Amino acid sequence: MSKEQNSLMDKIVSLCKQRGFIFQSSEIYGGLKSAYDYGPLGVELKRNIMNEWWRSMVHEREDVTGIDASIVMHPKVWHASGHLAGFSDPLVDCLISKERFRADKAPQPKVGEELPISCVDKGQAKAYQEAIKKRFEIELRRNGKTLEGLRVIDEKTFGFFETDSDVSATTFPYAGYVGPTFGCPFLSEERQFNLMFRTQLGPVDVLNRISKFMENNRDADSKAIREGVDEIVKESAVYLRPETAQAMFVQFLNCQQSMSMKVPFGIAQMGKSFRNEITTEHFIFRSCEFEQMEMEFFVEPGTQHEWLDYWRDKRLEWWKSYANHPEKFIYRKHDADELAHYADACYDIEYEYPWGYDELEGVASRTDYDLKKHAEHSGAKLSYFDQQKEDPKTGKMGWRYTPYVIEPAAGATRGLLVYLLDAYHEETVKDAKGNDSTRVVMKLHPRLAPIKAAILPLVKKEGLPEIAREIVADFFKAGINVKYDENHAIGKRYRRHDEAGTPYCITVDGQTKEDGTVTIRDRDTMAQERIPAKEALRIVQERLVNS
Ligand code: ATP
Repeated sequence: MSKEQNSLMDKIVSLCKQRGFIFQSSEIYGGLKSAYDYGPLGVELKRNIMNEWWRSMVHEREDVTGIDASIVMHPKVWHASGHLAGFSDPLVDCLISKERFRADKAPQPKVGEELPISCVDKGQAKAYQEAIKKRFEIELRRNGKTLEGLRVIDEKTFGFFETDSDVSATTFPYAGYVGPTFGCPFLSEERQFNLMFRTQLGPVDVLNRISKFMENNRDADSKAIREGVDEIVKESAVYLRPETAQAMFVQFLNCQQSMSMKVPFGIAQMGKSFRNEITTEHFIFRSCEFEQMEMEFFVEPGTQHEWLDYWRDKRLEWWKSYANHPEKFIYRKHDADELAHYADACYDIEYEYPWGYDELEGVASRTDYDLKKHAEHSGAKLSYFDQQKEDPKTGKMGWRYTPYVIEPAAGATRGLLVYLLDAYHEETVKDAKGNDSTRVVMKLHPRLAPIKAAILPLVKKEGLPEIAREIVADFFKAGINVKYDENHAIGKRYRRHDEAGTPYCITVDGQTKEDGTVTIRDRDTMAQERIPAKEALRIVQERLVNS
């Protein structure tokens, strides 16, 4: 980051603390790494962002329904989704397909054997061929949906061989195994992944059982101890969800049947997720506890690409619609070598952060992978029957299929950071003495702003506070969050509310007592106009609706 960009982040972090948007968690105890508390203004801003998302994704749509699932789910959910695989066994990532698998269960081609990479179809073969060419500078031969040219040379090396050549053109380190689905030997190092936070369900302290086991197995080697302890822990282990998405797959049938939803339809959820991130960075951009806003949209197989484009555009427009700088939001298509093996296409919606473009939301076409995996692991029939459609296989009316899924998955807390960055504005204005001073304004969209209006008596006497409190009561009755504020000189109060992002300041002054009017000041232009005090609520309401 350049100095200037760095300083924008520093300014945001310090304003967040000063104005009460975000505090470091447990600050008086020295803070907890990468944990944050949303303060009096932050909690309002976060709720407003999430409520706006819910309004556009659930309330305003006939084809989406919402849920609020428990954070701790049955551990089998995480077995089926693949999240649990890395807990006790070393895992490896295929660098091409992104498939994650257990090294000890992978196929182990022997010295001299060919290493064909078997793809799902010709399109994927082409994409993987290009990805390998880009990354490893070799062009494998395509034979239908198989990529050829690789062979194991010895226990530690595999090579690329041109047609009819016995001499390898290039060699690579061989792990002794290949990815189970595609047979690909381009792999990451083995790693122990502990992405999920583990805890124990039930009142029995698992440590007692572990110490007994240790006492009875004093001579066991470290592998046997690890396996034994693992077995004990596993019996009562549960996990904090690392994403909100899985609940929508698991509750697919209940939601579809209880609400008589017809494909295409979606299930939306927002809430906390937890990830033991290896690197936490950029303030609240990547933290271990965060909030997500996700939707699984179930579609007929074959229509997924149209729907992917639809949701990509919808979501990008949504983010832009609350921004001062919509040009800073873009989408980026995933390259073939970035795609998860179950996804057939994916876009990231990105924002231009001070450190460059980075992810804000992922919009992925996840095929029928998730529903099929949960059907396989649970035995539930997670499919959909469309009476009006002809089964393409039999030609008869009535088609039962596993829906494909489009998933727009956004970060709520990451979105909050984006809107803080977007809102931060400094300008030079004259102060009361005519000197230049810097005015900091958080130009938050009025519907996102934590406080919608500040109601300010010019002085704390002469009956002005009473009139101001009557106006406040009107707003509260209408469910609009306003703040009564009488401390400090009026200019200072305006500045404080500029920094809080309050779009309107309504001031009660001497004239109010004479003609019943108040001033309304616009945060961005600082323009003031007189309006009847009795009209203040209606005028602010109208401005909020039309903003
Ligand atoms: P990243 O690559 O940035 O870690 P991801 O691809 O793992 O994100 P997803 O699993 O697609 O993220 O989650 C959807 C959204 O949730 C992300 O686009 C991001 O906005 C948010 N998100 C994911 N991880 C975190 C985190 N650790 N802290 C804050 N927000 C997060």
